[in-house]
Amino acid sequence: EQQEGQRQDKQAMCKKQLREMPNYFVSIPITNDQILDKIEDVQELIFTKEPDLLRALIPVQTMHLTIIVAHLRTEEEVKKAILALEQSKTKVEAILQGKLFNMTFHGIGQFNNQVIYVKMSEDQQHIFNKIAEAVEGSFNDMGLDITGSKDFKPHLTFLKLSKAPALRRKGYRKISSDLYKEYEDSPFGTEIFSQIDLCAMHKKKQESGYYYCECSVNVDCSSAEENKEQ
Ligand code: AMP
Repeated sequence: EQQEGQRQDKQAMCKKQLREMPNYFVSIPITNDQILDKIEDVQELIFTKEPDLLRALIPVQTMHLTIIVAHLRTEEEVKKAILALEQSKTKVEAILQGKLFNMTFHGIGQFNNQVIYVKMSEDQQHIFNKIAEAVEGSFNDMGLDITGSKDFKPHLTFLKLSKAPALRRKGYRKISSDLYKEYEDSPFGTEIFSQIDLCAMHKKKQESGYYYCECSVNVDCSSAEENKEQ
């Protein structure tokens, strides 16, 4: 009887966790072919060395930088998040002051040896942090729940063990850096920052393979383009 009670407690806890888990995220999409092709090269190398890891690889069509994650409970909250994103646009444009933000990616990093990603160049991370803080501020001002967000650490995840729970059961607990050491300090390319999306984690993805977006804002770089031509 006690065991049954414990089982029910556990079930209730799982349901509660699911209810409170983030279901949306604010994303900067990555579409530059040079970056995506190189990520596919690394994924291919890993697959060649360890074919079992195929199911843990993240399709490059979904490649993005996560700014924050949010738990949005109702349509009303989704609408508020859209407003928050629109507010962020103004703040972000003020941060960039008409300059293009060329996001450069270099080398490979990991969280807990379970999430493997391409890193943003160190010297640009402070700009990303400022952008992330602006977005976070707008979501907080709207009273939205973004407590699931991690420390800002710009990363392009291309492999995560949690995507393939069967691997864990097979005994894969950690990804050895030997699998990707050839690329650990390689350049991956540059993406011009121009768009921020509010994406749903669990809704059906778009035909392109990218996440379902409730809203996309374009960050205006037109004055930067004019500056470049002068
Ligand atoms: P994402 O690429 O944003 O979907 O993140 C992939 C995984 O990395 C998720 O499971 C996150 O929880 C985890 N993650 C993201 N940021 C961090 C961080 N700063 N420290 C540790 N884990 C993180």
